[in-house]
Amino acid sequence: MTEAVLTLNAGSSSLKFGLFPAQGDRPLATGLADRIGEQGTLTLRGADGRPLTPSSGDLSTHLGAIRVMIDSLHAEYPGLRLLAVGHRVVHGGAAHAAPVRVTDAVLDQLTDLTPFAPLHQPHNLSGIRAATEAFPGVPQIACFDTAFHRTQDRVNQTYALPRSFYDDGVRRYGFHGLSYDYIAGALPDIAPDVAHGRVVVAHLGNGASMCAMLGGRSVASTMGFTALDGLPMGTRCGQIDPGVLLYLMDQKQMTPAGITDLLYRQSGLLGLSGLSNDMRTLEAAGTPEAAEAVAHFVARCQREIGSLAAAMGGIDALVFTGGIGENARRIRAAICARLDWMGITLDPARNEGAGDTISAEASPVVVLVLAANEELVIARAARAAVAA
Ligand code: ADP
Repeated sequence: MTEAVLTLNAGSSSLKFGLFPAQGDRPLATGLADRIGEQGTLTLRGADGRPLTPSSGDLSTHLGAIRVMIDSLHAEYPGLRLLAVGHRVVHGGAAHAAPVRVTDAVLDQLTDLTPFAPLHQPHNLSGIRAATEAFPGVPQIACFDTAFHRTQDRVNQTYALPRSFYDDGVRRYGFHGLSYDYIAGALPDIAPDVAHGRVVVAHLGNGASMCAMLGGRSVASTMGFTALDGLPMGTRCGQIDPGVLLYLMDQKQMTPAGITDLLYRQSGLLGLSGLSNDMRTLEAAGTPEAAEAVAHFVARCQREIGSLAAAMGGIDALVFTGGIGENARRIRAAICARLDWMGITLDPARNEGAGDTISAEASPVVVLVLAANEELVIARAARAAVAA
């Protein structure tokens, strides 16, 4: 018999999952159900990364995809017993500073947070509902992208609005917390000298944010009330003057739905380049607009690193993670190129190599590249919840 925990990350039409053993960090299997609906596909990989053949079945709903996925995993691991299912949930609100076992009351509470994250929360919760139906009696553990930031002080969690708005939930929550949690846990082994110091973590993927960590705890972050704030992203605008929104409503008669589409899906790298949300495509494009989109991204990253360092009174380490942070060497070099005044100096050869450390030997600030691993954070939380 194989005892394991399952991690699920449910999006609008996708479901990423990982099967982790009862102990140990290496997944037994990982996979992605994509384009759930008419043209659903399922890809699966085993412990050694080799592709597994998925079972056939209905991929038109999240529940169907979970069933096909578990059938496929049973074929690979006969006698598989799930101890718990851990879910990535974008919003835990002000109440949840840690993972929580899902009950009907918790599900109601998380459903009430949907207006704060309308594009993500409903899909995360439908993943929980589908898994509850597929695995009756197996504990479901919700792990929140906001939880890691609940250590921030009130100044960093407030907007300068009348106080009643804060009480109504209009505050800075911060996101990508599972990624930051992983980095905070990994740093003491990888860089013990700086792990407990002043660290800026740059999670640069299709979604992008940064977090200032002091002693492994979040003290400030670039994302706020929603995952729109801060850095420009693949299709999201990042920080914007709220006056722009007033102008769009008043003078351009744009509706809330139109503005949502503009800010979440048409902006960022895609909007600036008029070409693509994908950094690889932009780096290869060679058009002035693509170059300008990349330059904008780099400049905003530089400013936010400065801002977060100021929030901590300095910086001891800068960590890059996420698809761009881990792979886009030229972007890392461009970001760091104008930060030498802060003590950040890259070693060009290390930046091209595969090691963790990419800063120069004499650089006062250590610069690291670490692979994101939100799934492991979720798996550990699921194990801990059932062990408690
Ligand atoms: P998500 O936020 O959807 O999880 P990822 O963390 O996978 O996204 O990051 C996706 C981004 O990483 C894309 O913009 C992609 O172009 C970029 N990326 C991945 N590999 C490279 C690379 N070798 N060079 C430049 N950018 C890359």
